[in-house]
Amino acid sequence: MKFSTKCVQAGYTPKNGEPRVVPIVQSTTFKYESSEQMGKLFDLEESGYFYTRLANPTCDAVAAKIAALEGGVGAMLTSSGQAASFYSVFNICSAGDHVVAASAIYGGTFNLFSVTMKKLGIDFTFVHPDADEETLNAAFKENTKAVFAETVSNPALIVLDIEKFAKVAHAHGVPLIVDNTFPTPVNLRPFEFGADIVVHSTTKYMDGHACALGGVVVDGGTFDWDAHAEKFPGLTTPDDSYHGLTYTKSFGKSAYITKCLVQLMRDLGSMQSPQNAFLLNLGLETLHLRVPRHCENATKVAQYLEANDKISWINYPSMPSSKYYDLAQKYMPNGTCGVICFGIKGGRAAATKFMDSLKLAAVVTHVADARTCVLHPASTTHRQLSDQQLVEAGVSPDLIRFSVGIEDADDIIADIEQALGNI
Ligand SMILES: *Cc1c(COP(=O)(O)O)cnc(C)c1O
Repeated sequence: MKFSTKCVQAGYTPKNGEPRVVPIVQSTTFKYESSEQMGKLFDLEESGYFYTRLANPTCDAVAAKIAALEGGVGAMLTSSGQAASFYSVFNICSAGDHVVAASAIYGGTFNLFSVTMKKLGIDFTFVHPDADEETLNAAFKENTKAVFAETVSNPALIVLDIEKFAKVAHAHGVPLIVDNTFPTPVNLRPFEFGADIVVHSTTKYMDGHACALGGVVVDGGTFDWDAHAEKFPGLTTPDDSYHGLTYTKSFGKSAYITKCLVQLMRDLGSMQSPQNAFLLNLGLETLHLRVPRHCENATKVAQYLEANDKISWINYPSMPSSKYYDLAQKYMPNGTCGVICFGIKGGRAAATKFMDSLKLAAVVTHVADARTCVLHPASTTHRQLSDQQLVEAGVSPDLIRFSVGIEDADDIIADIEQALGNI
């Protein structure tokens, strides 16, 4: 199947007489004829559904579709993007371990890593995504177990040099985990450039309609855990909670994602609800149509903004004026995303006046929606960060994050024009 066909059809093939559309299996549990058979499911000797915290047919179908879109060996849906980021790291790290992370990441992820996971004994060193190999190398320690970064950072739109990060991570015997929420697999498939694990906030473009919170962890199946067995005992030595089963022995290339599901999801329980997975799937069915339209509209809006003398600066990685244009062309020649960031002359007061004057674009704590929306990160999603942390995240105090929707670009531009006229 080509990519567009996968968006519409992958993950679910009904048999004779079965529903054409992925059904919502709104059931916590599944019936079996004997306890012996159910025991085999518990021991992972047989596969089958028994409890929705571990697996559910609706969620499985949608996870399989996303795995197919990213080109991975398997995927696990989570209740939110935050849960996906947490699971992706916690699956291979425990107290006493260390992770190298890009400093320009979503504010919620930064808090999760620097505050909450730190309390669990996992330490993070943050490095700017533009750092050279030498600086990156210097961030590694004996106990480093992973590298984490965003392919296009929210909100600064810094484009990651995936090959550089993958090369350094692999030289230290650890996987590269990337958050690919902004480009989506329509524009970028990180496994093709050396990433090992991909996470998404499916809440954004994948759902695309601001209906359902969700996340996903996708396993590329590329990382050789056994080659670095001493670093990843959770995958390469027996799991007592499954009578001594070893994930790499029993599940080969799917060891990481299987452990994530049968161990972490079993114990922590942040499953996506079947209802949300159904809504997510409706979004995925048009992802290949929506994302190019977002990019096309964003390009028009960015060109308009760039030519306007009330704008002090603008970053849209698909536009030649962006510092990240070359990287964007290399990794995402067909477009980056629908998000633009810029500053307005006159500082915070002008920015507030501008945002309050918008009519079609809504001021919301959301991004990557079919409807155009706008946010001032320094006073909202990133308000927990210190001034220094804001600089490292690429979020200047005047940064406006403008998420271009799939309305008519002329209407979006007219709205911006009247709002700028109020300054
Ligand atoms: C929104 C977002 C998250 C968090 O996702 P939720 O679904 O809100 O939990 C993580 N990463 C990026 C890049 C995001 O934009």
